[in-house]
Amino acid sequence: MYKSIIIGTGPAGLTAAIYMARANLNPLVIEGPQPGGQLTTTTEVENFPGFPDGILGSELMDNMRKQAQRFGAEFRTGWITSVDLSQKPFTLKVEGHGELKAESIIVSTGASARYLGIPGEQENIGRGVSTCATCDGFFFRGKKIIVVGGGDSAMEEAHFLTRFASEVVLVHRREELRASKIMQDRARSNPKITWSLNRAPLEVLAGERGVTGLKVWNNETGQEEIIETDGIFIAIGHTPNTGFLAGQLPTDEQGYLLVHPGTTETDIPGVFACGDVQDHRYRQAISAAGTGCMAALDAERYLEGIPAEEVLTL
Ligand code: NAP
Repeated sequence: MYKSIIIGTGPAGLTAAIYMARANLNPLVIEGPQPGGQLTTTTEVENFPGFPDGILGSELMDNMRKQAQRFGAEFRTGWITSVDLSQKPFTLKVEGHGELKAESIIVSTGASARYLGIPGEQENIGRGVSTCATCDGFFFRGKKIIVVGGGDSAMEEAHFLTRFASEVVLVHRREELRASKIMQDRARSNPKITWSLNRAPLEVLAGERGVTGLKVWNNETGQEEIIETDGIFIAIGHTPNTGFLAGQLPTDEQGYLLVHPGTTETDIPGVFACGDVQDHRYRQAISAAGTGCMAALDAERYLEGIPAEEVLTL
């Protein structure tokens, strides 16, 4: 029986672990299939405060993990096969670790960027393929970049990337964009953005020094084309990692967990959510870490028996 089980080891989960451990609550942290979360898929992190020279994403996550361990957080690696939030204590079944029980649970399982699933994509992550313009745009100063997608994320990323790139080519598989009109208009009025609509990505092309181009299928001509580029930003959406909860917590229409505004409380007292699994707006390491801290403080107060209404006035 644990006071608290934290599920997920991105910046949100590890920050929650540091706070819970420092409060002597000996949290158990469950590490899933991608320890460290999305930051481990990027290279240099230059926007996490406190690192004036930047830090590798994997190193930042290693440091956070060590910091949590130093104060007594326990880690176990395993796939969660089921969760029962219907009665207290809450029960989790974790592959290789059996049944675990906890008085409180912090869900910080993040969201996974969707990938195209085409040849050359996975092996060139960090060599020109990215799913995060805020993280990696800076490395493409003066270069030509492709952004794939036709939603608001693609418009936003393309617009943002024109700060660095000499040209941003927006590649979308259809003629119509899914993005809102205001985002489309903003992208269309940006002279650095060019459009390759009706192009379905087929293969990421790369040489020794990284990405060199994107092979696409031109729906209008029925022929393959190669668009030369130095980088490919894939902006086709994210999927929050909530499948293991089997619908026990309310979500919005995109599957993100709902929390009570200004807190990390879910509809089930004792269950808290932080990081990207409940945030499709900011999605930054620092904002995830901030909500991880909030979840730990909310959980601590819950474990002390302070009612939620009173916490609001603390
Ligand atoms: P989205 O709206 O689901 O759009 C995903 C885009 O990727 C679609 O255009 C889709 O094409 C394309 N796509 C999906 N799978 C693909 C594949 N295998 N190959 C090629 N293209 C593929 O996702 P999003 O843009 O990330 O937005 C998610 C939500 O966040 C939306 O509600 C959005 O409004 C919101 N958001 C808001 C803002 C803002 O207001 N500032 C910024 C970002 C996101 P099809 O259109 O052909 O399906």
